[in-house]
Amino acid sequence: MKRTKKTKSILRRLLLGSCGVLMLLLTFFLINYIGKLSDTKAYANAGSVDTALEAWQEMKVTEAPNPPTMTPTPLPVPKAEFSKEYEHLGETEEVFAYDSGVAYGLRYPIYEDAICSSAVKKAAEELLAAELLELSGASDKDCKLVIDYEDGTAGELVSVLFRIEKRVGNAARTEKKQWIFNKKKGELVDAETLFADPAYAYIAEQASAAAAEGAGTLPGDRETFSSFLLTADGAEFYYEADGKEQSVTVPYAALHTYMSVTVNGNVTADGIRKLDPEKPMIALTFDDGPHYINTPRLLKALEKNGARATFFILGDRSFFTEANKETLRQLAASGNEVASHTYSHKDLASLSQEDMIAEITKAAANIYALTGEYPTFVRPPYGSYNDTVKQYANAPLVTWNVDSEDWKSRDADTIVAHVLEEARDGRIVLMHDIHTFSVEAAERLIPELMERGYQIVTLRELFYYKGVELENGKVYHGAY
Ligand code: ZN
Repeated sequence: MKRTKKTKSILRRLLLGSCGVLMLLLTFFLINYIGKLSDTKAYANAGSVDTALEAWQEMKVTEAPNPPTMTPTPLPVPKAEFSKEYEHLGETEEVFAYDSGVAYGLRYPIYEDAICSSAVKKAAEELLAAELLELSGASDKDCKLVIDYEDGTAGELVSVLFRIEKRVGNAARTEKKQWIFNKKKGELVDAETLFADPAYAYIAEQASAAAAEGAGTLPGDRETFSSFLLTADGAEFYYEADGKEQSVTVPYAALHTYMSVTVNGNVTADGIRKLDPEKPMIALTFDDGPHYINTPRLLKALEKNGARATFFILGDRSFFTEANKETLRQLAASGNEVASHTYSHKDLASLSQEDMIAEITKAAANIYALTGEYPTFVRPPYGSYNDTVKQYANAPLVTWNVDSEDWKSRDADTIVAHVLEEARDGRIVLMHDIHTFSVEAAERLIPELMERGYQIVTLRELFYYKGVELENGKVYHGAY
């Protein structure tokens, strides 16, 4: 009994189970059939379930099963996130990828110079690796990294400024990184030490002047101006002022004395610049300084225009004050020429031999003590000398052939007009940097003379390019 019941029960279950399976199959077909309703041509003519099933069977044969849905993976960092403002010199390599939980985009330049090109690629990849390593440790896994760049060239130098944008969750941060390469030498240039400390005071001054009103005075330090690009026109410094990024371009002529690398190769070891021997030259010379206000002001005007001059300084005046001492040091470091106007501006021809020698040697000793170099030339006060002076000068004696007569007119307009009238190739102009009106005149004369085609040079440069042989004790009024 029990057994039979059990058997029946099993049979019933099997029957019910079969029905269930059939129902399931039917449902499956129906779902598929309904699913094809919209796009099946065969079904359009079907009148019954049978034909529909037939049609479905046909479809099964003729149509390959759909592959699993593939949503194309969007580029994690769309190209749009690269700045359109950054100008690039040549070709650009772009990489988009996803690594260590960070979606990133990297851009770096490709240069014709293969060594330079592989070096910048290496730098970009190292930069990326370092940033990825840092971001992979972030607690928020929603990280994005964009490394873009700007570039420029100056002479043999190639300059790249990488701009790194990092986003972790909602926090964003931007950093910049310099890369400078000397193509001629095939080596990297240490960007951090490219400019010596004194350069920053000057850069800050230029930046403060260029910045929007209300930006205030910027600190003249390395940190404020750590981002820059070397371009054909000068070093372009990027800085924060008034809450936004601003930039100022400072010409190399104003910076070269503070630079560890020569840009454009225009300065040779002995201080003679590469100039055009075919173009006219004129030497501006300034006597009776240094003056702690007027001399630095004049230096700025010279730097700004890429001009150089010769300063006949007085030994005693150089030591009057700390400010004057500093001015002389600054003068010597500027690439302009320091020469001797004797110790205390006495008429040498009227002195005893002993006093006369003292006037020359004391001045030379003072100049040496402050600058580390003996003066290149001696200019006797009032242009007054005799054979003893020539004998003991221990340097060529240089007078002038254009007297600006600044001491006489004491007026910038008159000085400018007079010098312009007298200016000729190879001439030496006498002026005095102790007077404000002379410096004012020089500030106008320098660009005006250059406009007229003159190269404004030191005496050493003038004699070098004009092929004048220099002898100690010999007197020179000009190059011709
Ligand atoms: Zn004088």
